[in-house]
Amino acid sequence: MATALVTGASQGIGACIAKRLAQDGFDVAINHLPGDSDKEKALAVAQECRAFGVKAECFAADVSKFDQCEDMVKQVKEQMGSIDALVNNAGITKDSLLARMGEDSYDAVIAVNQKSVYNMMKHVCPVMMKQKHGSIVNVSSVAGLYGNPGQVNYSASKAAIIGMTKTVAKEYGRKNITCNAVAPGFIHTPMTDVLSDELKEKMLEAVAMRRYGEPEEIASVVSFLVSKDASYVTGQVIEISGGLSM
Ligand code: NAD
Repeated sequence: MATALVTGASQGIGACIAKRLAQDGFDVAINHLPGDSDKEKALAVAQECRAFGVKAECFAADVSKFDQCEDMVKQVKEQMGSIDALVNNAGITKDSLLARMGEDSYDAVIAVNQKSVYNMMKHVCPVMMKQKHGSIVNVSSVAGLYGNPGQVNYSASKAAIIGMTKTVAKEYGRKNITCNAVAPGFIHTPMTDVLSDELKEKMLEAVAMRRYGEPEEIASVVSFLVSKDASYVTGQVIEISGGLSM
């Protein structure tokens, strides 16, 4: 049975991706932040994944920390047997205009959103190389493609992920490892629930489909990218935004 490791999978898009990949027949390794509240949520996600008849286990690690990623990858390999798909989904926002953004907010977002992708790919790629196959999907954002006021830290982290994705695709293509990115637009999750109704309405004016996306609409594209149907797709960024950029 193939195993998928999804970071930041205790809620939102990550939880939805974990469940979709379980439905597709993957055993699922569910990463969550250390701490009781995230662990409880991750355990509930694992329970839902098992309903599809697959194995699902939870692994605590702060993915911004290199050593914790190394330990987690070892544990996943030991307990699940292989790592066939990696989805780098964990992410945070700490929004404010550049004029007011402190160094702490900048560094924190870069560490969780960008450095984590390095940490995870650094430890998972050798496992995939030994297996002679693997697929990686990095969760970027439309903010990384077009910029977004109040998100200089977030946009930087999400743009960097695109460069990293293309580089890893080039470095590991001959090893039968694909690496792609998805760039979601405005998606209904706890991350966007906190925005004011006024801002939500305003953001939708730029969306051709005039609605928010659902986490399931991100999970279905990730499902394709880690499937055999996408075996010759690598180094690509798929925007999932209801037509934001047109
Ligand atoms: P969310 O806040 O609901 O979920 C983020 C998850 O990441 C949580 O489970 C959280 O615990 C986890 N996480 C945070 N820091 C972590 C760390 N250091 N180590 C391990 N896990 C950590 O957000 P979401 O909307 O589901 O976002 C998921 C991904 O999608 C993020 O990368 C986000 O940037 C991206 N994204 C979201 C939207 C959107 O509109 N919601 C749009 C574009 C991109």
